[in-house]
Amino acid sequence: MNPQDIKEILYTKEDLDETVSRMAAQINENYKGKKLVVVTILKGACIFMCDLVRKLDLDVEMDFMIVSSYGSQAKSSGVVRIVKDLDQDITGKDVLIVEDIIDTGLTLKYLVKNLKSRNPASVHVAALLLKDLGNQLQPKYLGKVCPNEFVVGYGLDYDERYRNLPYIGILDEKVYSQDQDAEE
Ligand code: 5GP
Repeated sequence: MNPQDIKEILYTKEDLDETVSRMAAQINENYKGKKLVVVTILKGACIFMCDLVRKLDLDVEMDFMIVSSYGSQAKSSGVVRIVKDLDQDITGKDVLIVEDIIDTGLTLKYLVKNLKSRNPASVHVAALLLKDLGNQLQPKYLGKVCPNEFVVGYGLDYDERYRNLPYIGILDEKVYSQDQDAEE
């Protein structure tokens, strides 16, 4: 990976550790004495979830979903297809959806509605990042409000790359333009 692909580092490893610790403390407080089903939306939220659950002092079960949004990659359509569903029945359980980033919020809106229809005790959302657009679904637990830019790292990808960066940064536009040039 070329370090010049990242235009600006937004959150360092240390910033992320502090943010995840703060979120975990809130979750620990609110679910004290309860069991929690942590539902991770793959693949982007996976690194965030791994760090988060290790800071939870609760009886945690982990489950995973893979969803794909209909429409183009760049624009969420709000119509979501479940590629991999939960392995378990969540009836009567407390569920926490762990998401990497909320852009339009349409993916999460669909997921919350879908999981609520399965009669859990509760469904809440922990999102690491929320793009600064102002009108999306507000997660109960939020890491950072981030600029409306395309960000990568700490699980977030561009074309499956950059997920392993220990920090989150803004991807330089030249990376997309190179890809576009290659396609032409
Ligand atoms: P939404 O339905 O909120 O518009 O889309 C959320 C999903 O789009 C996220 O889970 C993530 O997969 C993808 N996404 C949105 N913004 C970004 C971004 O800046 N960087 C990356 N890597 N993915 C993003």
